Amino acid sequence: MARVAFIGLGRMGHGMAGRYLDNGFTVAVWNRSKAKAEDLIARGAQWAHTPAAAAEGADAIVSMVADDEASLAVWLLAIECSTVSYRHALDLSRELRARNLIYIDSPVTGLPDAAAAGKLTLLVGADAADLEAARPFLAPLAATIRHFGAVGSGTVYKLINNLMGAIQIAGIAEGLAIAEQAGLDMKLVLEAIETGVAASPQVIRHSKRMAARNFSGATFTAALRHKDAAYAVVLAESLLCDAPLMGRAAVEAYARAKAVAPDDDEGQMIEIVSRAKGAAT
Ligand code: NAP
Repeated sequence: MARVAFIGLGRMGHGMAGRYLDNGFTVAVWNRSKAKAEDLIARGAQWAHTPAAAAEGADAIVSMVADDEASLAVWLLAIECSTVSYRHALDLSRELRARNLIYIDSPVTGLPDAAAAGKLTLLVGADAADLEAARPFLAPLAATIRHFGAVGSGTVYKLINNLMGAIQIAGIAEGLAIAEQAGLDMKLVLEAIETGVAASPQVIRHSKRMAARNFSGATFTAALRHKDAAYAVVLAESLLCDAPLMGRAAVEAYARAKAVAPDDDEGQMIEIVSRAKGAAT
């Protein structure tokens, strides 16, 4: 039976680790705070006191933590699902290859419910042969595996995806705030958005939640959105002559949201932008 070490049991990682248990893997888990592991331990996971102990004897190690700093704190070896910066993905890959280890760059799209149901899309950067070796460990997590090319390329795609998302979500908040202040019928506005040319799955989902101010069950936080947009802007600045204008605006917008409520849903951006002119400060 294949052994997996799973590092990081937050909203995403918890469900993903459960997928390995459901699929008959032997699973060792580590998380900075042990409480999030308790129900997985009850389902048969083995608790490890350190990431290194989790990795001992494992055939593959999968990590799903917050950011570069968290990734650095836990990594010894090899399937990195966290959204990290491009620089970090390349540095980690170099470090691991120097120790003769395989590194798979595999950030994901999909919300925590998709993580728990094995329906994520994996955005892979890896040598083709390395990806083949990793497939049995990727399959329980994914509905779709997209192989973009060499190590780092999965992270490039993930960062542009989330930068475009940041710009869109900040844009929806601004558009809806204008419509509200102008006194438009918001039911009609939502209907028009849903059937109009600006609609995307993301626009439809967020416009409904923002208009209703319904952010129950925060899935993707302001802090995570800010982190991803900031990593993407650093990448943009290394590749493009002209400043990434929209990207920088999104980073600024999410820096404000993060300063107010880092752990709130990213859709709370509507509260940041919707203060009416002349309203008391
Ligand atoms: P989360 O619920 O906030 O979980 C973050 C995890 O990182 C927790 O296990 C946390 O440990 C750990 N962590 C944070 N800082 C650490 C440090 N310095 N050292 C060790 N561990 C540390 O976040 P999430 O929503 O699961 O997101 C995890 C990753 O998935 C992020 O890279 C995010 O960008 C990406 N992602 C998220 C979604 C989504 O919908 N949520 C979708 C796609 C991709 P503790 O439990 O001890 O705090």
